[in-house]
Amino acid sequence: MASGVIFDIKEMSVNDGPGIRTTVFFKGCPLRCRWCHNPEGLSFEPEIKESGLPCLGCGLCRQPCGHEDCRPFGRCLHICPQGRLKQVGERVEASALADRIKRQADFLLANGGVTLSGGEPLAQPDFLIELERSLKPLHLALETSGQAPLPVFQAACALADLVMIDIKHMDPGQHKRWTGADNRRILANIAWLKARDIPFIVRVPLIPGVNDSQENLAATAAFLADVPALRHVELLPYNTLAGSKYASVGRTYDPGFDETRPPNIDCTPFAARGICCQVL
Ligand code: SF4
Ligand code: SF4
Repeated sequence: MASGVIFDIKEMSVNDGPGIRTTVFFKGCPLRCRWCHNPEGLSFEPEIKESGLPCLGCGLCRQPCGHEDCRPFGRCLHICPQGRLKQVGERVEASALADRIKRQADFLLANGGVTLSGGEPLAQPDFLIELERSLKPLHLALETSGQAPLPVFQAACALADLVMIDIKHMDPGQHKRWTGADNRRILANIAWLKARDIPFIVRVPLIPGVNDSQENLAATAAFLADVPALRHVELLPYNTLAGSKYASVGRTYDPGFDETRPPNIDCTPFAARGICCQVL
């Protein structure tokens, strides 16, 4: 029986695939995109999130307590007079999580399905595969960066009804500079996907001055030309609120690009290749 760490379950989601869906967010990601807006999804471990009212500096949360759930953090989650502290991330068994989601099976079968997102779901492969198998026959969408070994990618995609995958940059050096890893594994995984009949959507986060040049968009479109299983491409303009949650999990947001410059939002390189392109 496989278990894994998740940091959220969002019900009634309308932005994570077709219809109305339940989205499970896996905790932990091997990439470090400078524009990531989900800092609580980066670490693979449960952690403390601080938010809400200002800290009084009283130190009560640093004093020893007897709560079992506080032990891994060395801080008390329950004593803060400002209610600032909560655990983000929990370890769950795949079968128990599937049972929980399938309580709404009739609704999900009729209206949408389940999306497995993150963080990076492929970074917890045993948990992901068991969860996918347990969730059948619900419609399953896999939302991934593609940064995973090919056998893991193949196994997870083969169980999915729809794959939503990012292309962040076509240049390996630029990809490494802005995400921490080059793009060879991701492009190899997409190359495998292109030759299958698993429907997929490519998402391009448009980051000003990073990947929004005509040259990079044209190279992305060329890589995706003439692929029957590709449903469409989605351009996601940079979210200027991306850095807002970093301090709450003890991280610093340091994008390294000009956040104030609007990204170049241009579907024409895709249209020129006959690829449907949407701006979200
Ligand atoms: S208990 Fe709350 S207010 Fe006091 S130091 Fe800890 S976080 Fe700050
Ligand atoms: S792949 Fe997604 S979750 Fe991982 S660092 Fe990049 S934006 Fe964040």
